[in-house]
Amino acid sequence: MSRYMSSRFADLEAYVPGEQPQDRQYVKLNTNESPFPPSPQVIAAVSGEQVGMLNLYPDPECRRLKSKVAACYQVREENVFLANGSDDILNFAFMAFCDKDRPVAFPDISYGFYPVYARLHGISAREIPLREGFVLAAEDYYDLNSNIVIANPNAPSGRAIPVSDIEQILRTNPDHVVVVDEAYVDFGGESCVRLIDRYDNLLVCMTFSKSRSMAGGRLGFALGSPGLIEDLNKLKFSTNPYNINRLTLVAAEAALDSQDYYRENCRTIMENRCYTVEELRKLGFTTIPSLANFIFTSCPKCSGVELYGKLKERGVLVRCWDKPALRDYVRVTIGSREQMDAFLEQVRAILKEG
Ligand code: PMP
Repeated sequence: MSRYMSSRFADLEAYVPGEQPQDRQYVKLNTNESPFPPSPQVIAAVSGEQVGMLNLYPDPECRRLKSKVAACYQVREENVFLANGSDDILNFAFMAFCDKDRPVAFPDISYGFYPVYARLHGISAREIPLREGFVLAAEDYYDLNSNIVIANPNAPSGRAIPVSDIEQILRTNPDHVVVVDEAYVDFGGESCVRLIDRYDNLLVCMTFSKSRSMAGGRLGFALGSPGLIEDLNKLKFSTNPYNINRLTLVAAEAALDSQDYYRENCRTIMENRCYTVEELRKLGFTTIPSLANFIFTSCPKCSGVELYGKLKERGVLVRCWDKPALRDYVRVTIGSREQMDAFLEQVRAILKEG
């Protein structure tokens, strides 16, 4: 830290994203990307006339895309907020709704960015322990008297809770915002978007990074009551009105015109998830039931950190954590059948090595 850095950030520990190595080709199962390319329409859209228009700023209101998102989710445009990845949305949500006196609560094991945003914005955060087996018990969030952020399905476990649980949490915290991070909802989970008309304290956060193969394009969106959306827009327009670039806007519009393609890809991922869990079970692994495009699994022979290291040597990247509760596990993104077979082959070889 230089002597010029504000003392506000002295205790801030930045989020560490998953590795994006550039040195060699890996079977890359560490950051929950889609193994499938964007749809042909998306590729055509970003290769078209918009490239020649990069001299012009994009539409800061993102009107065309906003109207398509609204139609896709059967909500009104005033229910839609768009930003540069759902990380950008979460940052705005923490900034907008929380402060020293308006604390936030989230599970102690969840997306690692939540505590970072809390610290970044000087928010007091309460981490609520998950129950045995990474189970989120809805009643632990009733009447909390604080804002709440829940990833559903949760990360890194992949476990999901039903919409009825989310509704109870909303009902018992009427004076606080409940952010439901549905980054992984398209792989078998149940979205709570239909509740936004009934609960003006609900903000549902989604992304094009996973099910819509656009992690590199950076597009996230949030759906919620017009008041919450207005608050988020106030902050976006006080930070960077052009936070979504021209190419991403047209790519996302084209992605929404390719629903069948992405639905089919999600189906394949879910099949591959089932296949991988079953093959790992035969090898003695224990896997947490997942409704996401990743699984959280523990090896019968070695720790998560060890398995991660051995797999990396063999050209397969997965993710592990050093936290005691997570140490036995690796998180494995579900990719194509070929990628999962390559992963399983290396796992079998590692187990044979002893
Ligand atoms: N929420 C969760 C739970 C995630 O795992 C991620 C991906 N790292 C994000 C949000 C952010 O995704 P993005 O910024 O790519 O939309």
